[in-house]
Amino acid sequence: MNYMEDLRSKNFEEIVEIGNKFGLAPFKARELYRSIHGKGKESLSEITTLQLGERSKLAKQFEIETPKPLQIKKGNRTIKAAFELKDGKIVEAVLMEYEEERKTVCVSSQAGCPIGCLFCATGRGGFRRNLTPGEIVSQVYFFAKMHQITNLVFMGMGEPFLNYNNVLSAAKNLNNDLGLNIAARKIVLSTIGIPAGINRLAREPGQYRLAWSLVSPFDRDRRQLVPYRSLPSIPNVVEAIGDYQAKTNRRITIEYVVLRGINDRMKDIKEIIAISRHLDCHINLIPYNETIPGKFENGNIEKMYSELRNVHLKVTVRQSLGGDVQGACGQLSAKLCGTESRPPRR
Ligand code: SAH
Ligand code: SF4
Repeated sequence: MNYMEDLRSKNFEEIVEIGNKFGLAPFKARELYRSIHGKGKESLSEITTLQLGERSKLAKQFEIETPKPLQIKKGNRTIKAAFELKDGKIVEAVLMEYEEERKTVCVSSQAGCPIGCLFCATGRGGFRRNLTPGEIVSQVYFFAKMHQITNLVFMGMGEPFLNYNNVLSAAKNLNNDLGLNIAARKIVLSTIGIPAGINRLAREPGQYRLAWSLVSPFDRDRRQLVPYRSLPSIPNVVEAIGDYQAKTNRRITIEYVVLRGINDRMKDIKEIIAISRHLDCHINLIPYNETIPGKFENGNIEKMYSELRNVHLKVTVRQSLGGDVQGACGQLSAKLCGTESRPPRR
């Protein structure tokens, strides 16, 4: 079978190497990279800085894989897109407009997620496979055709640190100044807490930001809500983050989805305070977005906010966008049927 390689999965050095192999002048290899990662070209035939002969030689071995947008839903300051990958799998990404000047894309790193958090639609749908670097950047290139993208969050489907190499390769292409040139500081990797990934991120030269989804400050409760067999314990994650901060001096975000009666009790708050004392962190409380009707309820955000503030922690409440298109945190499920809208809950 004639196996075609995806140019969107290649980094700068790899494109230069391909250029050498195919006898392209160095400036042409740069142009090729810029066309793929900066301009989002979708086929070699569109890259007219290369001669016809050069393009057709490359086209025998390479293609520019462009996942097909299957469904696009526009909401209030959000656009959710579902893409069909080459093998028919579906992933979703969301563009969020927090402010006029800030356009954030929430990308998926895996088709499905093996962690299986009970409150998350992605987790409940099971795991399909890791995304390639090209499949990750493609989600951003789709939205970059509409707006200049300033921020990126790996908070869509999947656990980025279980697909570390492909996620970092995508992040580097998105950060490259011949690519979309998104500042590393504006790229957030959100993890359930995988120490191996945290250790590796600490050694990356780019200043990518780290967010940890704590879920519950008690290991027992956390394991019930996050039934991943090899889920690391909270002390192990805290230790990895401590090492990361010793190396990078970077503040992290603790993300905390607030579930009524489950992780918003006074004893949870006290334990969150104890954990955060070990770290340089900012706590971002996330209102629960409904995934399974009746199973969980949004918790007491106001109480948590004021209790954490009272002890001088840095706390914010996430402005949840995307609920109107089933595209808010935890709602991405790659199910295309959800086109009907439900009346708002009272
Ligand atoms: N797998 C990674 C990144 C994707 S999830 C992680 O878990 O960090 C991004 C965030 O959405 C996490 O903080 C997660 O706790 C939160 N989340 C998941 N389901 C949610 C829901 N139903 N409502 C609100 N936040 C949710
Ligand atoms: Fe996976 Fe994150 Fe959803 Fe948990 S919250 S199932 S880790 S995507």
